[in-house]
Amino acid sequence: MTVIPGNLASRLKELLSKSYSPYSRFPVSAIVVDEDGKEYTGVNIENSSYGLTVCAERVAIFKAVSEGARKIKRVYVASTPEEPAPPCGACLQVLAEFADGDAEIILYSTTSGKTLKYRLNELMPLRFKFNNIEHYYNKLS
Ligand SMILES: [Zn+2]
Repeated sequence: MTVIPGNLASRLKELLSKSYSPYSRFPVSAIVVDEDGKEYTGVNIENSSYGLTVCAERVAIFKAVSEGARKIKRVYVASTPEEPAPPCGACLQVLAEFADGDAEIILYSTTSGKTLKYRLNELMPLRFKFNNIEHYYNKLS
């Protein structure tokens, strides 16, 4: 069974209180760890215009990138259901921009303590990457 360090578990639980989720009442927190071991936190932030809501994972990833991080090694995601919630597809795609397939995604339930560990490759085996940009531009000209 996967176990996350006690200090991280308590930080994730404390972070949930900062979630702005008045509509779904589904608080989520995330901690992203970059290749240097630096940590960045995030919570879900909802909006009256639902489509503008941003997940905790993306908030944490954007904070990391805006502070100079370019390689994410691990993401912790915490939620309250007994079965911990996984990231949505949009967050996995955003993560794929800054993480290799072996990046760890660790899901944690703050109520049951259940912890599940996955690799990005497992949760999103086929990721869109704009790798061959020259190839596409050459076809256009
Ligand atoms: Zn998401």
